[in-house]
Amino acid sequence: MLPVFINLAATHQPCDVIDAFCGYNPNRAKIGPGIFADWCMTLQSENSVKGRTTGHSGSSRALATLASDARVVADFVAQHGPVLVLTGAGISTASGIPEYRDIDGNWKHAKPVQYKDFIESAEVYQRYWARSAVGWKTMGRARPNAGHYALAELEQRGHVSHLITQNVDRLHAQAQHQNVVDLHGNLSTASCLSCSNTLARESLQQEMEAQNPNWFASVPQTTTEQKPDGDAWIAARATKHFLPPRCPTCGGKLKPDVVFFGEGIPQRIISAALRAQEQAGALLVVGSSLIVFSGFRIVRDFCARQLPVIIINQGKTRADDLPVRKIVHDANELLPLTASLTQ
Ligand SMILES: [Zn+2]
Repeated sequence: MLPVFINLAATHQPCDVIDAFCGYNPNRAKIGPGIFADWCMTLQSENSVKGRTTGHSGSSRALATLASDARVVADFVAQHGPVLVLTGAGISTASGIPEYRDIDGNWKHAKPVQYKDFIESAEVYQRYWARSAVGWKTMGRARPNAGHYALAELEQRGHVSHLITQNVDRLHAQAQHQNVVDLHGNLSTASCLSCSNTLARESLQQEMEAQNPNWFASVPQTTTEQKPDGDAWIAARATKHFLPPRCPTCGGKLKPDVVFFGEGIPQRIISAALRAQEQAGALLVVGSSLIVFSGFRIVRDFCARQLPVIIINQGKTRADDLPVRKIVHDANELLPLTASLTQ
């Protein structure tokens, strides 16, 4: 086995943790296991060189911390589950979708389009759809990562009752997670603001490309500034030549079925989220700074009811001063190991 870990985290039986991880299915979990496998190889190499001494390196410390934290989360869901899970942009970064904010909670990009501007300004409407048409190249290709699959596995095993996500990328659904509440809607469809006609976003993309062949040919299709809502930066002058989509039924404006900044969350979504909150006795937050009030409110509700909360996030969160257990780790590494430790 790996005595290095016994010395570092004896109370959490890390040898079992490492064995559990090394048995994790790498074909399904595309991101985390490669990292863990590298660590396993490093540690095995260290042990063979050191003759199983008690010395340890930075990587072994990191893995011991990871093993310990994964055990904490596994025990949490086993003891308090089925838990409610709340996810934010941090869980999707390993799928190539960037976060809005840095680890200090500050904006990484220019602020997103506001609902009022989208509705009232023809220029903002045109610019939004031009940038979305480019951003979709990334969003449409994104696939679930090890973190999404691990949460789906925890749900299958009865440890997760519902999952509320602030993300609009639909990656939890793609990972076969069943009980998902898209708190801010999702990008897979768009609806007419006049007649409520709903269109699949993928077919809308094809329509926009058919209507703007020269524009797509002249605008760079990759960008260094991609946002989690599917927006992408392109030069303002380029957006002026884009023909934005219109409803094929009535000619009205189309809006993606996401909740814009400055827009209220639909009542049916609020009701679904409240039901999910009421049914759970504990909350696991994954990859969210909780800056947006709709997410923070859920944490505050659990704290007010004196129910246990764990937050897995690599940066500051708005709830850091509340009575929660904070785990500073990459969820895409931690969750697959957590799933491996549960029954
Ligand atoms: Zn319409």
